[in-house]
Amino acid sequence: MQLIGHVDIRLENKGRLPNPATYKNKANYRLPFSEEWLTVNGGTSKENSHSWSILTQRYAYDFIIVNENGLSYKNEGKDLNDYFCFGKEILCPADGIIVEIQNTIKDYKRVGDNSIDWKTKDFRGNYLIIQHAKDEFSFIAHLKQKSIKVKVGDSVTKSQALGLCGNSGHSTEPHIHFHLQSKKNFWTAASLPIRFAKISRKQNAITMIKEHSYIEKNELVKNV
Ligand SMILES: [Zn+2]
Repeated sequence: MQLIGHVDIRLENKGRLPNPATYKNKANYRLPFSEEWLTVNGGTSKENSHSWSILTQRYAYDFIIVNENGLSYKNEGKDLNDYFCFGKEILCPADGIIVEIQNTIKDYKRVGDNSIDWKTKDFRGNYLIIQHAKDEFSFIAHLKQKSIKVKVGDSVTKSQALGLCGNSGHSTEPHIHFHLQSKKNFWTAASLPIRFAKISRKQNAITMIKEHSYIEKNELVKNV
């Protein structure tokens, strides 16, 4: 299905895919959480990209929470509740309307051994798709089972709590996946770069506070 989508994406974009140099976001985005999280995957370059060759996820991000030692869990990390981000509130990144939801996928309980739930009904796990503008949609995935509080058709506002971080779908440990897409359809939309508003980016103990900025892999990020 992803290969079929790729043909569509290239045709619809006439071979020129959206990129940070030419694409202007239509909505004003904030990170979909409070507190400081780590960008474990994602960025605007091929080197940092979550998955450069997967056109639907080229500018996607995976976020977790780590402690001062860089660990994402306490104790042994063998229990979902050991993970700092598990159960954290996920917030609406910009005003919009909920257009698609999945809320019934089980959280994978086996953590700490890098395995994933091959038997899951959907590798995306529990997710939300929010329309922010004509051709701009948020996709947020791996939410906790039955934690999504909104329904299709609901108007949502920036910073509104939508659900909780989980470990559903293909996920080696609790995290959230966030990307912007050009259409509602996850399989055929092009991934869009996300310029965040009012953001703090920390890398190698250097903090930058930006009015508008893209973010990159291995940065500790938070809304300011
Ligand atoms: Zn991801």
